[in-house]
Amino acid sequence: MTIKAYGASAGTSPLEPMDITRRAPGAHDVQIDIAFCGVCHSDIHQVRSEWAGTLYPCVPGHEIVGRVMAVGEHVSDFRAGDLVGVGCIVDSCKHCTDCEEGLENYCDHMTGTYNFPTPDAPGHTLGGYAQQIVVHERYVLRVSHPESQLAAVAPLLCAGITTYSPLRHWKAGPGKKVGVVGIGGLGHMGIKLAHAMGAHVVAFTTSESKREAARALGADEVVVSRHAGEMENHVKSFDLILNTVAAPHNLDAFTALLKRDGTMTLVGAPATPHDSPEVFNLIMKRRAIAGSMIGGIPETQEMLDFCAEHNIVADIELIRADEINAAYERMLRGDVHYRFVIDNATLAS
Ligand code: NAP
Ligand code: ZN
Repeated sequence: MTIKAYGASAGTSPLEPMDITRRAPGAHDVQIDIAFCGVCHSDIHQVRSEWAGTLYPCVPGHEIVGRVMAVGEHVSDFRAGDLVGVGCIVDSCKHCTDCEEGLENYCDHMTGTYNFPTPDAPGHTLGGYAQQIVVHERYVLRVSHPESQLAAVAPLLCAGITTYSPLRHWKAGPGKKVGVVGIGGLGHMGIKLAHAMGAHVVAFTTSESKREAARALGADEVVVSRHAGEMENHVKSFDLILNTVAAPHNLDAFTALLKRDGTMTLVGAPATPHDSPEVFNLIMKRRAIAGSMIGGIPETQEMLDFCAEHNIVADIELIRADEINAAYERMLRGDVHYRFVIDNATLAS
């Protein structure tokens, strides 16, 4: 079937309306009417081919929520009318050790929601800036938040799980001091989630204007990282630092804040590398720099349920589909509180 979408035909072109097709739902597929789609910084990196290898036309979007329209004959967990979400993963091999452990995000054959090879036209996946999507049931999540919060649930499907998973893996919780660097889409979720897990949360921002806002999100303390004196107050004190910054920067300024055996986990994925970190900073206190990619499907469901239970959603600015190019420019200026979400109903006009 043909549907309306927003995408780019080249890395140097703005996004524009386009018609795309979706496969007819197979026996294990769920056909979803997309209500809202969040706008992740990864969308910008990929639409503009900053990570190289982008396939065009590129229809981004992997923070998808909506309502089930129809299901294939073998689908038993979902039915028409259910509120559901789809995140960054729409397929994987389903039998490797990663898939068996519910870590489909680390499967060597994971299919991302957009820009990954697929038998469907046009030969690569097309994401959530579209009216509908058809996804294998394994990669569909149940949404139990009230429907009135649906737009603000969308960013949980990437920003939420990408921060939840490392916070859980490195055991954020009571008695732990956790830093969150970069207060954008990911970072603001990191603050809310680490706070809800019971950690002492310190937000690091380059924006003086976010000082009060970060507290309102749940940060116990806020550091404007441009101020050396404020950074100095926190040396050798963190168990975990979650770094969400979308651009290369000096990592040493943050590793110096880790206590012995502390870890800084990088989730920000800049287009060009950071300068090499100072090795002595790591050796002296057995500190670690790690990475983490989104999260598996079972953990994504756990995160959605955790957020519903704790009444956590993203802070969003709802936009029309035709406002997407301006939204990208504002994101690049750090001017969004804290996630743009597309109202997909506006694709119809
Ligand atoms: P975002 O909303 O644009 O937020 C990034 C934040 O980083 C900004 O708000 C800003 O916070 C800070 N920042 C400081 N200097 C910056 C600079 N020169 N350029 C850009 N940001 C700067 O982005 P996001 O959607 O949260 O994504 C953040 C990064 O995570 C991106 O690289 C994205 O591709 C990546 N990502 C990774 C995964 C994963 O699985 N690992 C998943 C999703 C996204 P302050 O104003 O507070 O300084
Ligand atoms: Zn994302």
